[in-house]
Amino acid sequence: MKTDDGLPPLREVVEKHELAAKKSLGQNFLFDLNLTGRIARAAGPLAGVTIVEIGPGPGGLTRALLMEGAERVIAVERDERCLAALAEISDAYPGRLQIVPGDALETDWRALVAGITGPVRICANLPYNIGTVLLAGWLETEPWPPWFDRMVLMFQREVAERIVATPAQRVDYGRLGVLAGWRAKSRILFDVPPSAFTPPPKVTSSVVEIVPRATPEPCNPKILTAITASAFNQRRKMLRQSLKGLAVNGRTLDALTLLKSAGIEETKRAEEIDVAGFATLARVAEDMSR
Ligand code: SAM
Repeated sequence: MKTDDGLPPLREVVEKHELAAKKSLGQNFLFDLNLTGRIARAAGPLAGVTIVEIGPGPGGLTRALLMEGAERVIAVERDERCLAALAEISDAYPGRLQIVPGDALETDWRALVAGITGPVRICANLPYNIGTVLLAGWLETEPWPPWFDRMVLMFQREVAERIVATPAQRVDYGRLGVLAGWRAKSRILFDVPPSAFTPPPKVTSSVVEIVPRATPEPCNPKILTAITASAFNQRRKMLRQSLKGLAVNGRTLDALTLLKSAGIEETKRAEEIDVAGFATLARVAEDMSR
């Protein structure tokens, strides 16, 4: 039996190439091409667009992206067992699928897309164990605007909520929400139930759209990250306490002076400070560290 793209159904592909899912690689595969089509359309329109996909696995989303008209898909996959299955997709779409064997955590993204003309977009059903690390890396990228024009990514619902959180959602708001809110506008597009995956994960997943802001509030991403780490690691404490001992550029800063110069009350807690407040803290901290 063949599917709309003339390739065998994904269950057959997995059987043929003996791709039993490995938990250590965060493998929860999508076999339903209607669902992967929906994710690909959420990343569209795709004409003229190069997609960077992380973890294509047996290729369910890869096939959907190609079927929906992506000019090119560059797919980074760590599991060598998947490469033969992906080569079959590449044969069906000559010149449009570049398979990059390797670890996404060690990929030089700018080098990967160097020389490509036209928009580059990230779309992936991410391995859940490295999803937030990858996202933080893309959001901290320099220079800005980044090499991608949008990200459409699948995360566990709980992570998706942390990405889109603001101080109004106190429990979810944290380091990831500040970083994402600073550099991008994000929204949850739709949920995907555990039953859609093989094997099914324990929790619901969500597809999130993350669109880079052209001009985020100016501040140094590393300093912003150092401040949010300090502030949210002791989120129940007042900032005058949680920012004690904060070191920037090798210099320990006085928390009270930092907060006063930034115009932030010393008795506030991290979860009460919005993205603009954290960006101000990062700018003042950089000045104080000179
Ligand atoms: N895209 C496929 C789908 O939707 O059915 C598979 C998604 S599965 C959640 C995650 C994929 O990421 C797996 O194929 C896994 O082998 C791959 N992966 C895990 N860690 C990786 C890493 N560090 N670098 C690249 N790929 C990785």
